[in-house]
Amino acid sequence: MTEPPRAALLVQTHMSTPSPHVSTATCPECGGAQTDGFSCWGLLGAIIAWEMYDRELASEHFKTVAAYNLQHPAQFSEDALAGLREALAQQIDQGLPAAEIRKRMGASFEGSRRVLKPEAEQQPVLRGWRMTIADVYQGGQEGAAQRVRDWAASIRAELSDSQG
Ligand SMILES: [Zn+2]
Repeated sequence: MTEPPRAALLVQTHMSTPSPHVSTATCPECGGAQTDGFSCWGLLGAIIAWEMYDRELASEHFKTVAAYNLQHPAQFSEDALAGLREALAQQIDQGLPAAEIRKRMGASFEGSRRVLKPEAEQQPVLRGWRMTIADVYQGGQEGAAQRVRDWAASIRAELSDSQG
């Protein structure tokens, strides 16, 4: 869980402060705007690339990846998502070190068969959010760590609202 589940972070050189170009295309899962020609997956790669130059942002890596996955849940099993929601809440409440989270999450995330849904069942469902990865990216590298924290907290609040 320390790296996004797919390969090809091809945008790692995208390190200048962006002047966002927001197209009218939006993500079929989180509803976020495609920005600078990036889908959400591309935006995740760009933000992870910033981590190399921003230690504070790097320290929030788990939140970045967890928040991304929780807003793009189609490929994950219900069990995996439940574990991820809980780990994110613990990270927010207790500031668990990333190494500890990896240890706890290791069991549930090792072996992609239990984590990922069969491909035929992977149906993206659009859901609206207060904040998406596009909001984190569009502010540029400056202050990105704080926006990741805000993003993660907003997801946690919205998910616990919807669970009653
Ligand atoms: Zn999205």
